[in-house]
Amino acid sequence: MVERLKFRNPELTKRVAEKIRQVAPKSDTVKICHVCGTHEWTITHFGIRSLLPSNVEVIAGPGCPVCVTPAAEIDEAVQLAHKGVTVTCFGDVLRVPGSQLSLLDAKAGGADVRVVYSASDAVKMAEKEPNKEFAFFAIGFETTAPSTAIEVLKKPKNLSFLVSHRLIPPAMELLLGIGDLQIDGFIAPGHVSAIIGLRPYEIFPKAYRMPTVVAGFEPLDVLFAVYMILRQLKDGEARLENEYTRAVSWEGNLKAQELMHQVFEVVAGEWRGLGRLPSSAFKLKNEYAKYDAREKFKVKIEHGRDLPPGCQCHLVMIGKIKPTECPLYMKTCTPQRPVGACMVGAEGTCRIWAKAINTPR
Ligand code: SF4
Repeated sequence: MVERLKFRNPELTKRVAEKIRQVAPKSDTVKICHVCGTHEWTITHFGIRSLLPSNVEVIAGPGCPVCVTPAAEIDEAVQLAHKGVTVTCFGDVLRVPGSQLSLLDAKAGGADVRVVYSASDAVKMAEKEPNKEFAFFAIGFETTAPSTAIEVLKKPKNLSFLVSHRLIPPAMELLLGIGDLQIDGFIAPGHVSAIIGLRPYEIFPKAYRMPTVVAGFEPLDVLFAVYMILRQLKDGEARLENEYTRAVSWEGNLKAQELMHQVFEVVAGEWRGLGRLPSSAFKLKNEYAKYDAREKFKVKIEHGRDLPPGCQCHLVMIGKIKPTECPLYMKTCTPQRPVGACMVGAEGTCRIWAKAINTPR
Protein backbone atom coordinates (compact mmCIF):
# COMPACT_ATOMS: atom_id res chain seq x y z
CA MET A 1 0.00 0.00 0.00
CA VAL A 2 1.34 3.43 -0.83
CA GLU A 3 2.19 6.01 1.79
CA ARG A 4 -0.86 8.25 1.92
CA LEU A 5 -0.23 10.96 4.48
CA LYS A 6 2.94 12.74 5.53
CA PHE A 7 4.64 11.95 8.83
CA ARG A 8 5.26 14.95 11.09
CA ASN A 9 8.87 13.89 11.61
CA PRO A 10 10.13 11.99 8.56
CA GLU A 11 13.71 11.70 9.87
CA LEU A 12 12.62 10.10 13.15
CA THR A 13 10.23 7.86 11.22
CA LYS A 14 13.10 6.59 9.09
CA ARG A 15 15.19 5.94 12.18
CA VAL A 16 12.42 3.96 13.91
CA ALA A 17 11.73 1.98 10.72
CA GLU A 18 15.44 1.13 10.58
CA LYS A 19 15.41 0.05 14.25
CA ILE A 20 12.43 -2.16 13.48
CA ARG A 21 14.36 -3.82 10.65
CA GLN A 22 17.29 -4.40 13.02
CA VAL A 23 15.27 -6.18 15.72
CA ALA A 24 12.81 -8.06 13.47
CA PRO A 25 13.57 -11.74 12.95
CA LYS A 26 15.23 -12.48 9.64
CA SER A 27 12.76 -15.07 8.40
CA ASP A 28 10.16 -16.09 11.04
CA THR A 29 6.81 -14.42 10.60
CA VAL A 30 5.66 -12.09 13.38
CA LYS A 31 1.98 -11.24 13.74
CA ILE A 32 1.07 -8.21 15.85
CA CYS A 33 -2.58 -7.51 16.55
CA HIS A 34 -4.18 -4.19 17.47
CA VAL A 35 -7.79 -3.86 18.65
CA CYS A 36 -8.68 -0.32 17.73
CA GLY A 37 -10.35 1.32 14.75
CA THR A 38 -8.29 4.48 15.25
CA HIS A 39 -5.06 2.47 15.15
CA GLU A 40 -6.23 0.84 11.92
CA TRP A 41 -6.97 4.28 10.48
CA THR A 42 -3.47 5.51 11.36
CA ILE A 43 -1.79 2.35 10.08
CA THR A 44 -3.69 2.36 6.79
CA HIS A 45 -3.71 6.06 5.99
CA PHE A 46 -0.01 6.53 6.79
CA GLY A 47 1.01 3.36 4.98
CA ILE A 48 2.70 1.98 8.09
CA ARG A 49 2.52 -1.60 6.85
CA SER A 50 4.68 -0.57 3.88
CA LEU A 51 7.45 0.50 6.30
CA LEU A 52 7.65 -2.89 8.01
CA PRO A 53 9.72 -5.89 6.95
CA SER A 54 7.61 -8.30 4.85
CA ASN A 55 7.64 -10.93 7.63
CA VAL A 56 6.14 -8.49 10.21
CA GLU A 57 2.39 -8.33 9.85
CA VAL A 58 0.00 -6.03 11.75
CA ILE A 59 -3.58 -7.27 11.83
CA ALA A 60 -6.77 -5.58 13.05
CA GLY A 61 -8.84 -7.18 15.82
CA PRO A 62 -12.39 -6.31 16.95
CA GLY A 63 -11.77 -2.65 17.78
CA CYS A 64 -14.65 -0.94 16.03
CA PRO A 65 -17.57 -0.42 18.43
CA VAL A 66 -20.14 -0.08 15.67
CA CYS A 67 -18.94 -3.28 13.96
CA VAL A 68 -19.10 -5.46 17.08
CA THR A 69 -22.64 -4.41 18.06
CA PRO A 70 -24.70 -7.52 17.30
CA ALA A 71 -27.69 -7.46 14.96
CA ALA A 72 -29.99 -8.46 17.86
CA GLU A 73 -29.21 -5.16 19.63
CA ILE A 74 -29.82 -3.15 16.44
CA ASP A 75 -33.12 -5.07 16.23
CA GLU A 76 -33.93 -4.01 19.79
CA ALA A 77 -33.31 -0.35 18.88
CA VAL A 78 -35.52 -0.73 15.79
CA GLN A 79 -38.22 -2.36 17.90
CA LEU A 80 -38.08 0.53 20.38
CA ALA A 81 -38.47 3.00 17.51
CA HIS A 82 -41.44 1.02 16.16
CA LYS A 83 -43.03 1.20 19.62
CA GLY A 84 -43.06 4.99 19.33
CA VAL A 85 -39.97 5.68 21.43
CA THR A 86 -37.65 8.36 20.00
CA VAL A 87 -34.34 6.54 19.57
CA THR A 88 -31.19 8.68 19.78
CA CYS A 89 -27.87 7.31 18.61
CA PHE A 90 -24.45 8.24 17.23
CA GLY A 91 -24.41 8.90 13.48
CA ASP A 92 -22.26 5.84 12.73
CA VAL A 93 -24.92 3.55 14.18
CA LEU A 94 -27.69 4.60 11.80
CA ARG A 95 -26.69 2.39 8.88
CA VAL A 96 -25.48 -0.66 10.83
CA PRO A 97 -27.50 -3.62 9.56
CA GLY A 98 -29.93 -5.35 11.89
CA SER A 99 -31.43 -8.72 11.05
CA GLN A 100 -33.87 -7.07 8.66
CA LEU A 101 -33.70 -3.32 9.14
CA SER A 102 -31.19 -0.69 10.15
CA LEU A 103 -32.19 2.33 12.23
CA LEU A 104 -31.99 4.36 9.02
CA ASP A 105 -34.56 2.01 7.43
CA ALA A 106 -36.79 2.46 10.47
CA LYS A 107 -36.42 6.24 10.19
CA ALA A 108 -37.25 6.12 6.46
CA GLY A 109 -40.39 4.18 7.43
CA GLY A 110 -41.51 7.02 9.71
CA ALA A 111 -39.96 6.07 13.08
CA ASP A 112 -38.43 8.87 15.15
CA VAL A 113 -34.69 8.19 15.11
CA ARG A 114 -32.33 11.10 15.81
CA VAL A 115 -28.56 11.49 15.70
CA VAL A 116 -26.79 12.93 18.76
CA TYR A 117 -23.13 13.59 19.47
CA SER A 118 -23.23 12.41 23.07
CA ALA A 119 -25.42 10.87 25.76
CA SER A 120 -25.64 14.34 27.28
CA ASP A 121 -27.18 15.67 24.02
CA ALA A 122 -29.82 12.93 24.25
CA VAL A 123 -30.68 14.00 27.81
CA LYS A 124 -30.99 17.65 26.74
CA MET A 125 -33.16 16.67 23.77
CA ALA A 126 -35.48 14.63 26.00
CA GLU A 127 -35.77 17.51 28.48
CA LYS A 128 -37.09 19.77 25.70
CA GLU A 129 -39.92 17.34 24.86
CA PRO A 130 -41.15 16.10 28.24
CA ASN A 131 -44.26 14.45 26.80
CA LYS A 132 -42.30 12.03 24.62
CA GLU A 133 -40.33 8.92 25.60
CA PHE A 134 -36.68 8.86 24.48
CA ALA A 135 -34.03 6.13 24.49
CA PHE A 136 -30.28 6.55 24.03
CA PHE A 137 -28.58 3.67 22.19
CA ALA A 138 -25.36 3.50 24.20
CA ILE A 139 -22.70 1.71 22.19
CA GLY A 140 -18.92 1.84 22.51
CA PHE A 141 -16.09 0.48 24.62
CA GLU A 142 -14.78 1.60 28.01
CA THR A 143 -14.02 4.98 26.42
CA THR A 144 -17.66 6.03 26.07
CA ALA A 145 -19.23 4.02 28.90
CA PRO A 146 -18.34 6.61 31.63
CA SER A 147 -20.25 9.34 29.75
CA THR A 148 -23.30 7.07 29.62
CA ALA A 149 -22.92 6.40 33.36
CA ILE A 150 -22.89 10.13 34.15
CA GLU A 151 -26.20 10.61 32.32
CA VAL A 152 -27.81 7.58 34.03
CA LEU A 153 -26.92 9.12 37.38
CA LYS A 154 -28.86 12.25 36.40
CA LYS A 155 -31.97 10.00 36.42
CA PRO A 156 -33.69 11.61 33.42
CA LYS A 157 -37.49 11.52 33.56
CA ASN A 158 -38.34 10.54 29.99
CA LEU A 159 -35.08 9.01 28.73
CA SER A 160 -33.93 5.41 29.14
CA PHE A 161 -30.78 3.66 27.94
CA LEU A 162 -30.32 0.76 25.55
CA VAL A 163 -26.92 -0.22 26.87
CA SER A 164 -24.67 -2.03 24.39
CA HIS A 165 -21.22 -1.21 25.75
CA ARG A 166 -18.49 -3.80 25.28
CA LEU A 167 -15.15 -4.35 27.02
CA ILE A 168 -11.85 -4.69 25.18
CA PRO A 169 -9.67 -7.05 27.30
CA PRO A 170 -12.11 -10.03 26.95
CA ALA A 171 -12.06 -9.58 23.16
CA MET A 172 -8.25 -9.75 23.25
CA GLU A 173 -8.49 -12.98 25.23
CA LEU A 174 -10.88 -14.39 22.65
CA LEU A 175 -8.27 -13.80 19.94
CA LEU A 176 -5.70 -15.80 21.88
CA GLY A 177 -8.08 -18.74 21.97
CA ILE A 178 -8.23 -18.86 18.16
CA GLY A 179 -5.32 -21.23 17.63
CA ASP A 180 -4.64 -20.64 13.96
CA LEU A 181 -4.39 -16.85 14.39
CA GLN A 182 -1.04 -17.28 16.19
CA ILE A 183 -0.64 -13.74 17.46
CA ASP A 184 2.84 -12.78 18.73
CA GLY A 185 2.03 -9.46 20.39
CA PHE A 186 -0.72 -6.96 21.16
CA ILE A 187 -0.93 -3.22 20.59
CA ALA A 188 -3.55 -2.13 23.13
CA PRO A 189 -5.76 0.90 22.43
CA GLY A 190 -4.71 4.23 23.91
CA HIS A 191 -8.13 5.75 24.53
CA VAL A 192 -9.61 2.68 26.25
CA SER A 193 -6.42 2.42 28.29
CA ALA A 194 -6.66 6.07 29.36
CA ILE A 195 -9.82 4.96 31.21
CA ILE A 196 -8.97 1.45 32.42
CA GLY A 197 -5.22 1.91 32.88
CA LEU A 198 -2.61 -0.77 32.30
CA ARG A 199 -3.62 -3.20 35.03
CA PRO A 200 -6.34 -5.12 33.07
CA TYR A 201 -3.73 -6.09 30.45
CA GLU A 202 -1.40 -7.71 33.00
CA ILE A 203 -2.93 -11.07 32.22
CA PHE A 204 -1.54 -11.10 28.68
CA PRO A 205 2.18 -11.22 29.46
CA LYS A 206 1.65 -13.12 32.73
CA ALA A 207 -0.76 -15.88 31.68
CA TYR A 208 -0.18 -15.99 27.91
CA ARG A 209 3.43 -14.75 27.61
CA MET A 210 2.14 -12.18 25.14
CA PRO A 211 4.10 -8.92 24.72
CA THR A 212 1.57 -6.10 25.11
CA VAL A 213 2.17 -2.42 24.45
CA VAL A 214 -0.36 0.35 25.01
CA ALA A 215 0.05 2.86 22.19
CA GLY A 216 -1.18 6.28 21.11
CA PHE A 217 -2.54 7.23 17.72
CA GLU A 218 0.17 9.22 15.99
CA PRO A 219 1.89 7.14 13.31
CA LEU A 220 5.12 7.30 15.29
CA ASP A 221 3.28 5.94 18.36
CA VAL A 222 2.30 2.87 16.37
CA LEU A 223 5.78 2.42 14.91
CA PHE A 224 7.32 2.69 18.38
CA ALA A 225 4.83 0.10 19.67
CA VAL A 226 5.79 -2.30 16.88
CA TYR A 227 9.45 -1.76 17.75
CA MET A 228 8.79 -2.35 21.48
CA ILE A 229 7.01 -5.64 20.77
CA LEU A 230 9.74 -6.84 18.39
CA ARG A 231 12.36 -5.90 20.99
CA GLN A 232 10.59 -8.04 23.62
CA LEU A 233 10.33 -10.95 21.19
CA LYS A 234 14.02 -10.68 20.33
CA ASP A 235 14.90 -10.71 24.03
CA GLY A 236 12.61 -13.70 24.64
CA GLU A 237 10.50 -11.67 27.05
CA ALA A 238 6.82 -10.86 27.49
CA ARG A 239 6.10 -7.59 29.28
CA LEU A 240 3.36 -5.02 29.57
CA GLU A 241 4.72 -1.69 28.37
CA ASN A 242 3.28 1.77 28.00
CA GLU A 243 4.23 3.70 24.87
CA TYR A 244 1.46 6.25 25.51
CA THR A 245 2.71 7.65 28.82
CA ARG A 246 1.45 11.13 27.93
CA ALA A 247 -2.16 9.90 28.37
CA VAL A 248 -2.19 6.50 30.07
CA SER A 249 -1.23 5.64 33.65
CA TRP A 250 -1.07 2.35 35.51
CA GLU A 251 -4.29 3.06 37.41
CA GLY A 252 -6.15 4.81 34.58
CA ASN A 253 -8.94 7.28 35.24
CA LEU A 254 -10.20 6.29 38.69
CA LYS A 255 -13.14 8.67 38.60
CA ALA A 256 -14.38 7.22 35.30
CA GLN A 257 -13.90 3.68 36.63
CA GLU A 258 -15.89 4.56 39.75
CA LEU A 259 -18.74 5.92 37.60
CA MET A 260 -18.84 2.72 35.54
CA HIS A 261 -18.70 0.58 38.67
CA GLN A 262 -21.52 2.56 40.27
CA VAL A 263 -23.93 2.16 37.35
CA PHE A 264 -23.01 -1.02 35.48
CA GLU A 265 -22.46 -4.68 36.23
CA VAL A 266 -20.24 -6.80 33.99
CA VAL A 267 -22.08 -9.56 32.14
CA ALA A 268 -21.55 -11.88 29.17
CA GLY A 269 -22.15 -10.11 25.87
CA GLU A 270 -22.82 -11.03 22.28
CA TRP A 271 -20.31 -9.71 19.71
CA ARG A 272 -21.38 -9.50 16.09
CA GLY A 273 -20.31 -12.66 14.32
CA LEU A 274 -18.07 -13.74 17.20
CA GLY A 275 -20.58 -15.20 19.65
CA ARG A 276 -21.04 -14.67 23.35
CA LEU A 277 -17.97 -13.67 25.35
CA PRO A 278 -17.95 -13.98 29.14
CA SER A 279 -17.56 -10.78 31.18
CA SER A 280 -17.39 -8.62 28.06
CA ALA A 281 -20.40 -6.27 28.34
CA PHE A 282 -22.05 -3.78 30.66
CA LYS A 283 -25.62 -3.98 31.93
CA LEU A 284 -27.34 -1.40 34.13
CA LYS A 285 -27.40 -2.50 37.78
CA ASN A 286 -30.80 -3.46 39.21
CA GLU A 287 -31.11 -0.18 41.10
CA TYR A 288 -31.13 1.61 37.71
CA ALA A 289 -33.55 -0.84 36.04
CA LYS A 290 -36.14 1.88 35.51
CA TYR A 291 -33.66 3.58 33.17
CA ASP A 292 -33.07 0.37 31.22
CA ALA A 293 -34.95 0.66 27.89
CA ARG A 294 -35.14 -3.15 27.62
CA GLU A 295 -36.95 -3.38 30.96
CA LYS A 296 -39.05 -0.27 30.55
CA PHE A 297 -40.43 -1.16 27.11
CA LYS A 298 -40.20 -4.97 27.33
CA VAL A 299 -37.74 -5.26 24.46
CA LYS A 300 -35.35 -8.20 24.47
CA ILE A 301 -34.08 -9.99 21.37
CA GLU A 302 -31.69 -12.89 22.00
CA HIS A 303 -30.64 -13.80 18.46
CA GLY A 304 -30.24 -11.82 15.28
CA ARG A 305 -28.74 -12.32 11.84
CA ASP A 306 -25.26 -10.86 12.27
CA LEU A 307 -23.92 -11.58 8.80
CA PRO A 308 -25.77 -10.81 5.58
CA PRO A 309 -25.20 -13.52 2.90
CA GLY A 310 -21.59 -13.55 1.74
CA CYS A 311 -20.39 -11.07 4.39
CA GLN A 312 -17.04 -11.98 5.99
CA CYS A 313 -17.08 -9.40 8.78
CA HIS A 314 -16.58 -12.11 11.42
CA LEU A 315 -13.23 -12.98 9.80
CA VAL A 316 -12.19 -9.37 9.09
CA MET A 317 -12.91 -8.46 12.73
CA ILE A 318 -10.45 -11.01 14.07
CA GLY A 319 -7.83 -10.18 11.46
CA LYS A 320 -8.08 -13.60 9.87
CA ILE A 321 -8.68 -12.15 6.42
CA LYS A 322 -8.06 -8.73 4.91
CA PRO A 323 -11.06 -6.74 3.68
CA THR A 324 -9.86 -7.26 0.11
CA GLU A 325 -10.29 -11.02 0.59
CA CYS A 326 -14.06 -10.68 1.10
CA PRO A 327 -15.75 -11.44 -2.23
CA LEU A 328 -18.19 -8.55 -1.70
CA TYR A 329 -15.50 -5.90 -1.02
CA MET A 330 -15.98 -2.90 -3.33
CA LYS A 331 -18.28 -4.96 -5.52
CA THR A 332 -21.64 -5.13 -3.78
CA CYS A 333 -20.28 -3.73 -0.49
CA THR A 334 -19.02 -0.13 -0.68
CA PRO A 335 -18.97 2.83 1.73
CA GLN A 336 -21.94 4.26 -0.17
CA ARG A 337 -23.92 0.99 0.01
CA PRO A 338 -22.47 -1.09 2.87
CA VAL A 339 -23.51 -4.71 3.20
CA GLY A 340 -21.66 -5.59 6.41
CA ALA A 341 -21.05 -3.63 9.61
CA CYS A 342 -17.29 -3.28 8.94
CA MET A 343 -18.08 -1.03 5.95
CA VAL A 344 -20.37 1.29 7.92
CA GLY A 345 -18.57 3.15 10.69
CA ALA A 346 -15.48 5.32 10.41
CA GLU A 347 -13.62 2.77 12.56
CA GLY A 348 -14.61 -0.29 10.50
CA THR A 349 -11.64 -1.99 8.87
CA CYS A 350 -13.37 -2.45 5.50
CA ARG A 351 -14.43 1.17 5.37
CA ILE A 352 -10.97 2.42 6.37
CA TRP A 353 -9.39 0.33 3.62
CA ALA A 354 -12.01 1.36 1.08
CA LYS A 355 -11.50 5.05 1.82
CA ALA A 356 -7.70 4.86 1.84
CA ILE A 357 -7.27 2.72 -1.25
CA ASN A 358 -10.10 3.98 -3.37
CA THR A 359 -10.24 7.70 -2.59
CA PRO A 360 -8.12 9.77 -4.98
CA ARG A 361 -6.09 12.51 -3.26
FE1 SF4 B 1 -18.55 -7.41 5.45
FE2 SF4 B 1 -18.51 -5.71 3.34
FE3 SF4 B 1 -16.31 -6.10 4.72
FE4 SF4 B 1 -17.26 -8.01 3.15
S1 SF4 B 1 -16.47 -6.03 2.50
S2 SF4 B 1 -16.47 -8.26 5.23
S3 SF4 B 1 -19.45 -7.70 3.39
S4 SF4 B 1 -18.21 -5.19 5.47
